[in-house]
Amino acid sequence: MRKQKFRVIEQVLVTGYAAEGRSLARLDGKVLFIEGAVPGDVVDVSVTRSKKDWAEGRALRFHSFSEDRVSAFCAHFGVCGGCKWQMLPYERQLMYKRQEVEDNLRRIGRIELPEVQPILGAEATRFYRNKLEFTFSSKRYLTDQEMREVTMEERDVLKSKPALGFHVPKLFDKIIDIDTCHLQGGPVNEIRNWIRAEALARGHEFYDIRAHSGWLRNLVFRQCETGELMVNLVIAAPEPADRDALLRDLHAAFPMIDSLYYTVNAKMNDSIHDLTPVLFAGKPFVTEQLGGLKFRIGPKSFFQTNTRQAERLYEQTKLLAGLTGRETVYDLYCGTGSIGLFVSDKAARVIGVEVIAAAVEDARENARINGIEHAEFFAGDVIDVCDDAFFERHGRPDVIITDPPRAGMHEQLVRKILDIRAPRVVYVSCNPATQARDLQLLDTAYAVTAVQPVDMFPHTHHIENIAQLTLKNL
Ligand code: SAH
Repeated sequence: MRKQKFRVIEQVLVTGYAAEGRSLARLDGKVLFIEGAVPGDVVDVSVTRSKKDWAEGRALRFHSFSEDRVSAFCAHFGVCGGCKWQMLPYERQLMYKRQEVEDNLRRIGRIELPEVQPILGAEATRFYRNKLEFTFSSKRYLTDQEMREVTMEERDVLKSKPALGFHVPKLFDKIIDIDTCHLQGGPVNEIRNWIRAEALARGHEFYDIRAHSGWLRNLVFRQCETGELMVNLVIAAPEPADRDALLRDLHAAFPMIDSLYYTVNAKMNDSIHDLTPVLFAGKPFVTEQLGGLKFRIGPKSFFQTNTRQAERLYEQTKLLAGLTGRETVYDLYCGTGSIGLFVSDKAARVIGVEVIAAAVEDARENARINGIEHAEFFAGDVIDVCDDAFFERHGRPDVIITDPPRAGMHEQLVRKILDIRAPRVVYVSCNPATQARDLQLLDTAYAVTAVQPVDMFPHTHHIENIAQLTLKNL
């Protein structure tokens, strides 16, 4: 590939924080969005795009660092796509996230707002994810430092070495070899490193996504708060003898693995939702505990990835729903039913709607194992399912809880909510920009009466926000 030449602007003082984890500087009346720097840094910026009013680029060289910076705790910081904000003290991260919620609601929403509550931070800022997926690759990514330290010949050899770790942002086929990841606790780091070492010692080939050769593809961990652990090894082609020997020895070395699966994926892409995982050893499910409820997690189940903060998020959602035990509550975009089940002890009935049929089955199963009989779950697109007949059949909503994906709610659903006039709506969102857009549409009938951001993902720029809406002129 030919190297493109980018313009470099020298000695830029970074002055502010921008959305999506970027920072900004103002130059000659133009806003420059910068990747890889924080407010207070002085950097040379390589400009990758330039328009009339704004430009974007990334930090190339640092002249001085912001006084706010702290040293990164992870050896893979700067290369790995995860935990990109660890150079900022956690308090700062929280401040910026709250600010982003406020900016979005004010600028895009342009609606009347109560004061945005302080963001609820996480007690555990490391080892907080219950799900983590690593990728095998025949091509290891070399860090800048490695590039500098080795000769050209050594570089070629190193580049073609296998790796097991994470994708490097924006590079489709390169994987950074991970030694210690701070996102998941328990024996996960040890297990991953064991598998890498054993696979290499046995001469097993790591997958090459371009050539579609090799057979070790992905390694997925589910580590529950209960201590239960699931491992799913995704492979390209069944090599029964090698596969079984590797999995058998893995289980012998790590008997604490409660559920051990493999999944054959001969497709071009990495997704396993249309594949059937095979149970190799142990039990088919692991059990997660959240707020006194149990959730069964299979290899394909969706579950909030930070269990402890999901509990905070749901507690706030429940609080803002203002339940007394008499309400009919709708849980839209319910996934495996976790919000609906969490609030069910304070509701007369709960009706959940979710497009993925398998998630709805999990939701029903979760209701059953927790002995909850007044929660029902329906499969289908919210805009098809939630019509007048549906609300007629299941009762007018006193509270609608909605938790859409990043794209926000479909406009047709917004119109339905306006039409059905539930006294209260609690809008949980992972994207304050689309939430702001939807709140503006709802503004004709609903006032925003509380805004509560919750931090689900420390050291990343991801934001979760809850808005409480109250029907105007009740
Ligand atoms: N409330 C759940 C999941 C929220 S994620 C929890 O807290 O765990 C958003 C969910 O919306 C996903 O499960 C996704 O499958 C579902 N979804 C996306 N588009 C949908 C649609 N049009 N209709 C119904 N559900 C949808």
